Amino acid sequence: MGSKQGIIKGSRKERELDFWGKLYFPEVFKGMWFSFKHIFKPTVTLQYPEEKPVLGPEFRGRPVLVAEEGKERCVACGLCARACPPLAISMQGAEIPDGDVKERYPERFEIDMLRCIYCGLCEEVCPEEAIVMSPWYDFNFQNREEAVHGKDRLVVDKEEVKDRLDFLAKRRNPNFGEVYQHDKRNNTHTLRDRKEVMGKGLPEPDGH
Ligand code: SF4
Ligand code: SF4
Repeated sequence: MGSKQGIIKGSRKERELDFWGKLYFPEVFKGMWFSFKHIFKPTVTLQYPEEKPVLGPEFRGRPVLVAEEGKERCVACGLCARACPPLAISMQGAEIPDGDVKERYPERFEIDMLRCIYCGLCEEVCPEEAIVMSPWYDFNFQNREEAVHGKDRLVVDKEEVKDRLDFLAKRRNPNFGEVYQHDKRNNTHTLRDRKEVMGKGLPEPDGH
């Protein structure tokens, strides 16, 4: 005795057809008339991929790493990887030799685009504005290896994602009633040059 609920004649879910409905053709002509009327209206369909939609800076395309003066801002802190819900980000940090304002950089940084759900949490947590959601959405891959974006595909100059950075500057941190400004000095993560770059060093230990 299988359940036939919904198709049993007379059940509440069955649609009752009137005389014209049973004839069937009037509904077909109604549909054709509806389509015909739209022939003379302005088209809104884009012939993708030849025509691309104009997307605002609020759009979240594939995440990218921001580079400034040829160097990625990322300091390999790992926060984005920690926050990423589907564990799409993996990285390996490395030390930068003496003389640089940063101590660490990502020697390897990868995002598995088969896992990424474009949630933007990596961008949200990054203290350096080093990873942002780009306007790019149309990319393809032939196999799983190609879906893993390494630094060669991730690192872009900040000018290329300027709209998004400007958008973030306006939208971030509204809780404090101030406009968020990325301070370049924030990208200083070394105790070596701290005094020189930020005008203050580490506090002296007590008694010295
Ligand atoms: S957008 Fe979301 S899913 Fe994609 S890498 Fe960032 S945190 Fe992970
Ligand atoms: S949160 Fe930002 S600075 Fe930290 S590892 Fe991710 S991209 Fe780099």
